[in-house]
Amino acid sequence: MSIKILPPQLANQIAAGEVVERPASVVKELVENSLDAGASQIDIDIEKGGSKLIRIRDNGAGIAEHELVLALSRHATSKISELNDLAQITSLGFRGEALASISSVSRLTLTSKPAGQTAAWQAQAEGRDMTVTVKPAAHPDGTSIEVVDLFFNTPARRKFLRTDKTEFSHIDELVKRLALSRFDVSWQLNHNGQSVRRLPQATTLIARQKRVAALCGRAFAEHAAFIENSYGGLKLSGWLLAPQACQQQPLCQYSYVNGRMMRDKLLNHAIRQAYGERLSQEQQPGFVLFLEIDPAEVDVNVHPAKHEVRFHQARLVHDFVVSALSDALAQLTDEPAAAPPQ
Ligand code: ADP
Ligand code: MG
Repeated sequence: MSIKILPPQLANQIAAGEVVERPASVVKELVENSLDAGASQIDIDIEKGGSKLIRIRDNGAGIAEHELVLALSRHATSKISELNDLAQITSLGFRGEALASISSVSRLTLTSKPAGQTAAWQAQAEGRDMTVTVKPAAHPDGTSIEVVDLFFNTPARRKFLRTDKTEFSHIDELVKRLALSRFDVSWQLNHNGQSVRRLPQATTLIARQKRVAALCGRAFAEHAAFIENSYGGLKLSGWLLAPQACQQQPLCQYSYVNGRMMRDKLLNHAIRQAYGERLSQEQQPGFVLFLEIDPAEVDVNVHPAKHEVRFHQARLVHDFVVSALSDALAQLTDEPAAAPPQ
């Protein structure tokens, strides 16, 4: 066989294999784009668990008419421009692959209007060359992305979709996690025309507690304490469930590093260690925790879906989290303060 360069659509479909596992992964990429664009309102419409339709509407910065074609191209991003930037990522995206990947495995339309532009434009990429057509459209300031018939042209992937109900539950879980990371954003989630979540902006601590109660349940909200602690360039804040309220079924277990949701072994280990003997083998900790750290101190370019990070000073971060949480838990359980050193 001779060596040839793959047509763009096929190359993008292969890349899509890494990040676009199911409808919820599409929602994650699109919502992260809206957050990176500074949106304060994000509306999500889903039909049939996302296999029929995923529509995300935001009021963010928008994409200029002359950049619509680029936005749909692979390796095109406004978020980094040189290797140095990779060492200090402050945006959620940076790979420049999501829109190109998703549009290669669905019928995607992108409609946008930056505040400074008089009219909105709509773009769509089609065919094996992913040729982009652009036409005028009506849209308020911001961006809408519609993803119709996900995986219609990749039957192997489509076959792996579960029931609409299961796929939607993954989307709802994801929206929960995202909504807990951004209290300053107002969120709406609809499924098959029915409102599922409606979360207004929450600027005060009381409003945030209300959102936590709506997303993690009353039991969590009533027995979780708000904590805040910092050391050097590290800051940890969020809610921690009192050990006596921890059950076998975890109530809420979410952690974020610089606003990015994580499934991080190091953090989970530190949290478990802080609870220590206060929990039995069966009890599960409960937490919504935000770790803030100098972006130069973490590597987020570890995994395409970016739910892992690598801390440059892993030991330091681990020990800080253990000690910050142990202090908080001692107070929560009313333990006598440790005796001062003799
Ligand atoms: P990345 O997020 O890694 O840059 P994407 O393929 O997700 O790559 O998006 C490509 C580019 O399109 C982004 O860098 C951004 O400039 C633009 N873009 C995508 N979605 C939005 C949006 N909702 N609002 C404004 N710009 C967007
Ligand atoms: Mg992106």
